[in-house]
Amino acid sequence: MPELQRLFFALNPEAKVRAALVRAIPLPGPGGRLVPADNLHVTLAFLGSVDAGRIPELKQLAANVRGQSFTLRFERLEVWNRALVSIVPTHTPDALARLVAALSARLAPAGFQTEDRMYRPHVTVIRERQRGSGRREALIAPEQTSESVSAPIDWQVDDFVLMRSQPGPGGSRYVLLSSWPLIDAE
Ligand code: ATP
Ligand code: MG
Repeated sequence: MPELQRLFFALNPEAKVRAALVRAIPLPGPGGRLVPADNLHVTLAFLGSVDAGRIPELKQLAANVRGQSFTLRFERLEVWNRALVSIVPTHTPDALARLVAALSARLAPAGFQTEDRMYRPHVTVIRERQRGSGRREALIAPEQTSESVSAPIDWQVDDFVLMRSQPGPGGSRYVLLSSWPLIDAE
């Protein structure tokens, strides 16, 4: 039986950006739960369950992606499908769109299933407390009415990572498997 691991490519914020994101998270309402600070990230490509024996192949594939660095400016909060609250960047830089496209273009022929929905970068900060409960309890505390974060967060993205998602009693934890630099655009 192959050992299956839940994997995804992501952008992983350095400590200062992570701290700024944490400060920007609104107070959750009764229907919401905070995403732990350690888990804050931007997903690039979600792979689902992957045979652990294929990880070297995935790493090689990622190493062949020559992406360029870019900056993300986060200033807006969005609620999606009444199930999650995300902090979203003002726009998707071309270098990010190209990075996601380059990964997908290599993943698909190698037989890794990725999403075909339009890519929308985001950092999920609050999730529905009871998944799929269908309840309408607020995810965000009613007193938090602002749809923007108090100060814009600029994140200079210099690398991307492969993460393993480890399910556990207190929720999923992520383990960093590898990272690859993005080339300075200048
Ligand atoms: P949990 O599911 O235990 O609440 P989690 O969502 O943080 O925690 P995972 O479900 O392993 O952990 O997801 C890891 C990352 O991949 C998250 O960014 C999640 O939004 C994203 N993701 C999970 N499932 C999918 C999917 N089917 N399509 C696209 N992205 C997904
Ligand atoms: Mg999940």
